[in-house]
Amino acid sequence: MTPPERGKMCAVMDICWFLWMLPAAVRAVEEMLMDSTTATAELGWTVYPTSGWEEVSGYDEHMNTIRTYQVCNVFEGSQNNWVRSKFIRRRGAQRIHVEMKFSVRDCSSIPNVPGSCKETFNLYYYESDSDVATKTFPAWMDNPWIKVDTIAADESFSQVDLGGRVMKINTEVRSFGPVSRQGFYLAFQDYGGCMSLIAVRVFYRKCPRVIQNGAIFQETLSGAESTSLVTAWGMCIPNSEEVDVPIKLYCNGNGEWMVPIGRCVCKAGYEAVENGTVCRACPSGFFKPAQGGDSCRPCPINSRTTSEGASNCMCRSGYYRTDSDPLQMPCTTIPSAPRNVISSVNETSLTLEWNPPKESGGRDDVVYNVICKSCGAGRGGCTRCGDNVQFTPRQLGLREPRVHVSDLLAHTRYTFEVQAVNGVSDQSPYSPQFASVNITTNQAVPSAVSIMHQVSQTVDSITLSWSQPSQPNGVILDYELQYYEKDQSEYNSSTVKSQTTTAVVRGLKPGTIYVFQVRARTVAGFGRYSGKMYFRTMTEAEYQTSLQEKLPLIIGSAATGLVFLIAIVVIIIVCSRRRGSDRTESEYTDKLQHYTSGHMSPGMKIYIDPFTYEDPNEAVRVFAKEIDISCVKIEQVIGAGEFGEVCSGNLKLPGKREMVVAIKTLKAGYTEKQRRDFLSEASIMGQFDHPNVIRLEGVVTKSTPVMIITEFMENGSLDSFLRQNDGQFTVIQLVGMLRGIAAGMKYLSDMNYVHRDLAARNILVNSNLVCKVSDFGLSRFLEDDTSDPTYTSALGGKIPIRWTAPEAIQYRKFTSSSDVWSYGIVMWEIMSYGERPYWDMSNQDVINAIEQDYRLPTPMDCPVALHQLMLDCWQKERGDRPKFSQIVNTLDKMIRNPNSLKATTPLSSGAHLPLLDRSVPDFSSFSTVDEWLEAIKMGQYKENFANSEFNSFESVSQMTMDDILQVGVTLAGHQKKILNSIQTMRAQMNQIQSVEV
Ligand code: AMP
Repeated sequence: MTPPERGKMCAVMDICWFLWMLPAAVRAVEEMLMDSTTATAELGWTVYPTSGWEEVSGYDEHMNTIRTYQVCNVFEGSQNNWVRSKFIRRRGAQRIHVEMKFSVRDCSSIPNVPGSCKETFNLYYYESDSDVATKTFPAWMDNPWIKVDTIAADESFSQVDLGGRVMKINTEVRSFGPVSRQGFYLAFQDYGGCMSLIAVRVFYRKCPRVIQNGAIFQETLSGAESTSLVTAWGMCIPNSEEVDVPIKLYCNGNGEWMVPIGRCVCKAGYEAVENGTVCRACPSGFFKPAQGGDSCRPCPINSRTTSEGASNCMCRSGYYRTDSDPLQMPCTTIPSAPRNVISSVNETSLTLEWNPPKESGGRDDVVYNVICKSCGAGRGGCTRCGDNVQFTPRQLGLREPRVHVSDLLAHTRYTFEVQAVNGVSDQSPYSPQFASVNITTNQAVPSAVSIMHQVSQTVDSITLSWSQPSQPNGVILDYELQYYEKDQSEYNSSTVKSQTTTAVVRGLKPGTIYVFQVRARTVAGFGRYSGKMYFRTMTEAEYQTSLQEKLPLIIGSAATGLVFLIAIVVIIIVCSRRRGSDRTESEYTDKLQHYTSGHMSPGMKIYIDPFTYEDPNEAVRVFAKEIDISCVKIEQVIGAGEFGEVCSGNLKLPGKREMVVAIKTLKAGYTEKQRRDFLSEASIMGQFDHPNVIRLEGVVTKSTPVMIITEFMENGSLDSFLRQNDGQFTVIQLVGMLRGIAAGMKYLSDMNYVHRDLAARNILVNSNLVCKVSDFGLSRFLEDDTSDPTYTSALGGKIPIRWTAPEAIQYRKFTSSSDVWSYGIVMWEIMSYGERPYWDMSNQDVINAIEQDYRLPTPMDCPVALHQLMLDCWQKERGDRPKFSQIVNTLDKMIRNPNSLKATTPLSSGAHLPLLDRSVPDFSSFSTVDEWLEAIKMGQYKENFANSEFNSFESVSQMTMDDILQVGVTLAGHQKKILNSIQTMRAQMNQIQSVEV
């Protein structure tokens, strides 16, 4: 049988290891119970009858004197000669082995021998608890004696001269068991042979103490049967650990160990020596990072051990490791400064290029930060550049040694510091090393106007307003507004000049779409045109309707008679019925969000998952209208979607007015699955009909490219729109946006639709600042695509961690309540004008902070009531969060009572901690900002703070993230540390104030 066959046969019994015996190396131990060869006097065994066996002295093969028993009554017929040993104590053995050396005369070699001559004898044993034998007891017969075997000589004789006679000596071993009494006798029965019993040795077997597979197995007695297996449990040798349990060995009937089961290995800091029998501590200067069979290895460069048995080596002073650096890696340090910074200035932009630092600190993760300081036109000091300066590809964490800087001020001196940082810079107490360059910008034209709004429209005029360019680059002399009919060529355009940021364009055709662009002019000339924007004049019919709406007022002013009074009363009743309670709402509710939200009723439509259709194409046919490509005119690319470009364009359906639309395209080369996933968004969107949910116009699937056509949202996605217009809206405008999103979400949740990815980036804004929920794509939750860091892979899909409720992250419990959590984050995004939630904290840090009840703090200038609503949305228990209907009501109340939005002092919430570092010491125990900086281990920035306006606790407590960057803290980790400490300081100040009050 081959080993695998044996293995198969025995698969269920671990005693099968019997078949896989250890090599002979682990020999059995034999414990002697009786040895006739060591007797110094006569053996004195009992014989029966006295004419039978006879004790005779002789010599063994080494010529030592020995005692033998001989018998040779071959000529005397019918023999039954017994010789019985003395009482032999068992001493715990269960199986007894008897080794006999004897010689037998060959019957044929004896002349005239009778036929009864024998060449064998019988071996017997008799158990007893004490030495009770006499000359007649036990009786000399088969029963009570137990026969072990009939012993015959085999071929392996050796010739020995015993007292002058040449004899052949034979050795045989027999064993018997189980034995259980205190001891036993042996008896040898001759029945007519001529033989000599030269030596008898009686012993039992034990498996010896061994160390196998890192475990100690104590000496173990073998079992009672030759096939017995006795289990011995192993104990790990000192400084080792079990890796495979149970740890055991089997001792077989021959006193041999079988293959061990289970294993211990040396623990971290210890290595196996002396054939694996000892785990020795790594000597100093060596380490072993994990348990296992590896040897200790020398400490990596720039590290050392402090004691023997080290599982890692500590970095020497000035050297560090990141959390993800393997322990085998040398410790590293911060890089030296970048070299040879070269600048090339072009008007108000420049490109900086430099050489990597000479010393990378031993790491390959060096990146660069660029610090911009504006030094004015004169000789004054330099201050940090504002947010409006653009860095491409980015300002911090540049991988390539170059950056393009734009939107600088014209005719201004700047200093740029290029810092080199790597993975361990955060851990160093020193600021990063940098190289700097001074430049002066040239004269430049103004930058482009970023956004235009329609203020009002009539049948023949449109009033527009816009914001000043972010980079005027001088005094703006005037603006030039260019416009033309959308169906006409740009060459037929007209222009209007304005010295303010508003203009009325007159003489337009009714119901006609016009394209507008505006540009600013300084002494340096015209700036670039803004993007094209489309606005439409009213049709006559629309104009009439609007007049009718104003009729009550007109009539009211002119009326004198009773008839007119009655008419007024009637009209007012009709209007107030139509508008309901909205009449009492503030002006902004009317302008921005004049929508009443529906209530869930038994007949309410419920959302149907398109993937419940066996054929998802069928869902598209049911929920989305097919549009003929000839009705669609693509104008320009406005963004990049997940599956292809997003364009703006026009849709002219037969019998309908032409409209501006957004067109999402599916790029060529798609798979069938991509097409299905792409169109699934249309099948979802097509089920919705609400003013705050993006409206689907239809799909183009019968020609390529495949398209999804939706209403056009002039201001694009909310997050970038807010960032571009930082600080430019009133609180009531922002609340109007929040209200719109909440109303859209209420509608979706009433339809049982869970969005799962509610975030400002997925809200679109139109020219009237109406916000609409969009992005109903499912694919990014399903696909294992790691390209977008916002979405973190999780078991069964991807999750935008920062926006997602804890229960949805932990066990994928996505509900309308988890959407409410995300809504709270959107509130925070809006109130902080597109700030990234939790700034640059890692996703894991965000999860941990939320788990410990930390929550995002109040954005700057955010009303207390709104932050309280956010905190309500971030209740740990999802049942405690408000419903979207409640959120809409709360926001409506705020809009009706703007005074409720005035209080902006931070409110300490009992339920949640603001996102503060609790380990930060109490600022009131320090007398200077320097001392405080030292205490929070940011002493290296003392000078930066001292040279800035932030040199008192009063001013420091007001600092924003921008201010921290301004004073020269560029490392993200340090910025976070300081901001957290400042937030704690603020909280401590508030406490002091409230105590004083
Ligand atoms: P999406 O694939 O839906 O995330 O779209 C990508 C980008 O295209 C968005 O971030 C918007 O800037 C733009 N976009 C998408 N849909 C519209 C729309 N209906 N109106 C205007 N811009 C849109």
